Amino acid sequence: MRPGELHERHRAALPAWLSLYYERPIELVRGEGFRVWDSEGNEYLDFFGGIVTTISGHAVPEIVEAVKEQAERILHSSTLYLIESQVRLAEKLISLSPISGEQKVFFVGSGSEANEAALLFATQYRGSSEVIALRGSYHGGSFGTMGITGQSSWRPTPRTALDVSYAMPPHRSYSPLYGRFGDPEELARACAEDVRSLIETSTTGRVAAFIAEPIQGVGGFIELPPAYLSRVKEILEEHGVLFVSDEVQTAFGRTGSHFWGIERSGVEPDLITMAKGLGNGLAIGAVMGRAEVIDSLSPKLHISTFGGNPVSTAGALANLEYILENDLQRNAEEVGSYLKERLLGLAAEHASVGEVRGRGLMLAVELVREGAPDPQAAAAFMEACRERGVLVGKGGLKGNAIRISPPLTVTREAAEEAARVFDEALS
Ligand code: PMP
Repeated sequence: MRPGELHERHRAALPAWLSLYYERPIELVRGEGFRVWDSEGNEYLDFFGGIVTTISGHAVPEIVEAVKEQAERILHSSTLYLIESQVRLAEKLISLSPISGEQKVFFVGSGSEANEAALLFATQYRGSSEVIALRGSYHGGSFGTMGITGQSSWRPTPRTALDVSYAMPPHRSYSPLYGRFGDPEELARACAEDVRSLIETSTTGRVAAFIAEPIQGVGGFIELPPAYLSRVKEILEEHGVLFVSDEVQTAFGRTGSHFWGIERSGVEPDLITMAKGLGNGLAIGAVMGRAEVIDSLSPKLHISTFGGNPVSTAGALANLEYILENDLQRNAEEVGSYLKERLLGLAAEHASVGEVRGRGLMLAVELVREGAPDPQAAAAFMEACRERGVLVGKGGLKGNAIRISPPLTVTREAAEEAARVFDEALS
């Protein structure tokens, strides 16, 4: 194929709105650990992991073997039949769950479907279509999840049937209250009271669920402070509202300090949704949580053809074992702390770097010009990193946050190499 031909054919055959990274888009054809190669033979450090997904790295022999072995036996049977790897994966997830009491797991094919199912369970259980989400949130690309996403750029008009109210997270990107409180905990408490006010004054009072990402992903890796989440949880309990933790990006040790993102706050959610890192690239998602809530659907109301597919569950099991056996969470903590230090160092040296935030291997750097968000600088930074062999992601409400989320196997040496490239790209 001549250079540029695949891009032309992509443009002709795929939707115009399906955006690609880079002026000259890349086709990745091979990966190994935290390195990837494109069709022209260029090598890169993969510091975005296919949108925060490749958590154990590319071509991990144990995962490849499990997928191959299962694919050779049977690819598909559906939720109408017993699937051993599906049951084992559900049991494994429950054994790792931060939720107490009897639990169930329902498998789907993606993060959007996982949130869609969680919304279904919560609305059926509570007999209400009212949901509270957060400004700046992202919950998926399906009709229902787009309808609750707290960023207008990711939300269609007209909206969906769900009745959503948006609460204000305690971060300067959203809160007009930011800066009025000396103590961040005071701001966190004030923002939590906003949730109470929504329940008591803007809804019927019978809200089905509050949904939040412990660290907002697409929103630019904005962490919700533990004090906020724990206060919100108390308010929700007073009103019987379910807490859904969208862990599509924050699960499985990604945040370093904990296996699930929500654990840092000490909050026990009612439901957890997950995808991305669960399958290390295989198409799988799940909702896990209180059996009483998940079992509340009428019999046969719901079914999923691909949910808990033999290949994706066999691969996800091997992936989870790999994460646990190699203590990838600890590596995320160690290499993540080192990399964050380096990013803070860059912020001190380059006026174009604004806030550095995140934890573990979920780190973001805001690019600014005279203190204001600078999306052009973010795009130029990404191109400069690509030329120097590092792939990173982009996000944030203003498109100026660089998102850094390599596989959790990444070494300190690779992080050092990437930091050197970031320094050059900023210069
Ligand atoms: N929730 C969060 C927090 C996400 O980041 C995403 C995807 N970026 C989704 C849900 C939707 O997942 P998917 O693209 O697999 O449908």
